[in-house]
Amino acid sequence: MTTTGIVWFRRDLRLHDNPALDAASALCDDIVALFIVDPALFDAAGPFRRRQLVAHLHALAADVAERDGRLVIRHGDPVQIVPTLAAELDAGVWVNADVTPTAVARDDAVDEALAAEGPGGPVHRFWGNLVHEPGAVLTQAGHVSRVFTPFHKTWAVTDRAPWPAGAEAPVLADVATDELPQLDAEPPMEGGERAALSRLEAWAAGPVDDYREVHDIPAAEATSQLSADLHFGTLSARRVADEVGDATPGRAAFVRQLAWRDWYAHLLAAHPTLVERPANDAYETLEWNNDPDEIDAWKQGLTGYPIVDAAMRELAATGWMHNRLRMIVGSFLVKDLLVDWRIGERWFRHLLVDGDVAQNSGNWQWVAGTGHDAAPYFRVFNPVTQSRKFDGDGDYIRRWVPELRSLDSSAIHAPWEVGPLELAAAGVTLGEDYPEPIVDHSWARDRAVETYAAARERAD
Ligand code: FAD
Repeated sequence: MTTTGIVWFRRDLRLHDNPALDAASALCDDIVALFIVDPALFDAAGPFRRRQLVAHLHALAADVAERDGRLVIRHGDPVQIVPTLAAELDAGVWVNADVTPTAVARDDAVDEALAAEGPGGPVHRFWGNLVHEPGAVLTQAGHVSRVFTPFHKTWAVTDRAPWPAGAEAPVLADVATDELPQLDAEPPMEGGERAALSRLEAWAAGPVDDYREVHDIPAAEATSQLSADLHFGTLSARRVADEVGDATPGRAAFVRQLAWRDWYAHLLAAHPTLVERPANDAYETLEWNNDPDEIDAWKQGLTGYPIVDAAMRELAATGWMHNRLRMIVGSFLVKDLLVDWRIGERWFRHLLVDGDVAQNSGNWQWVAGTGHDAAPYFRVFNPVTQSRKFDGDGDYIRRWVPELRSLDSSAIHAPWEVGPLELAAAGVTLGEDYPEPIVDHSWARDRAVETYAAARERAD
């Protein structure tokens, strides 16, 4: 009797280095490669992530076809589709698991339905998208560390759980499939694992060596931009860490960032409420301002703070933003405008091509000061100081805020401080060509500190 294994692809859109696929291939005579377009997730993804997903699916389908197989697409609810297909084909199901509450609930529901109807028992789960699986990096007391540095220390010396040896079982070509979704515009990046591996190779071949010195300068574009490949699983985090290694300070600094990624995933796996609730209970009652006009100005890049506006405009136009800028605009929203971090988190998740529940909520809580290992609440980023420090020449601002292009590098970070003659010479009238600042930073800083302090007092 032949055995069939369904490999249900989700955020592991690759045939190489894929423990779920390798495990199923080692045990089964043939494989069904399945991807389910779940409208609940597909429609919620913003334009950039959706296009990137579609591009990856077309490439995965082509790669499977090269193995004489077919990528089976189904549209609908996985909780119905997977058990029905498993029963039809008399097959077990293999996946790479995810830590988000939605994914965990979905997989548990599929397990339950399979127990009722399926032949293969519960879903076989692997952890193909992290360096270490949740629960593998713990303190001596058996918890995920609430502080990053000790987590990283243990992470770096923890042995990796072995993955099944690579195997290649034939992928079936005769299972009925729905249509692949089609692209409505160019994706942010070329789709597929081969393109992703080329991006990794190009990064590991040299630029990573300068990472430690230049990674914080947005205009230099000196980070890997591999986050979306890690999100969709066109690259495995282990492969990225191995390919880069730690032979130079730049390489070691880069690989340390992958530990941040694991940390936020491990924290969310252990504390699923982190998506919605502050890690620090003291901030449950924080009184947000949430002014709709100010939120709108932030989203549109019309706050009057050039570095904030440049970054928000890049996000809206491309689905991308550099890490330093994510921190600056996040801090501006939460501290200067006193807007609930969850509003920013949702906007980012909608637009970012690498938008990822664990990474986005973890980082937003860090920026808001409500999260694990976050900066103290009274430390508030000054957007002008940050701008001068990380975009000294104003090159990044000029790229995205063309109306300020003619201001020199001393003036461009805070145009409201510039005299009317200089502004006129640069062709700028504040309030007409470019907004006046929507809030005064030093006043807003004091308001934020007082509001945070009041929430802490209420909690005491
Ligand atoms: P590199 O600097 O080349 O770093 C390499 C990899 O390390 C990244 O691809 C990423 O996987 C990981 N990494 C780097 N910085 C962080 C970090 N702070 N936290 C966790 N992992 C990190 N990252 C996402 O992948 N998805 C998100 O939705 C997301 N939202 C964010 C929201 C805010 C408010 C902030 C401040 C950061 C967010 N980040 C998010 C983290 C970080 O900004 C991005 O991972 C990084 O900018 C991606 O660029 P890169 O691949 O060039 O990073």
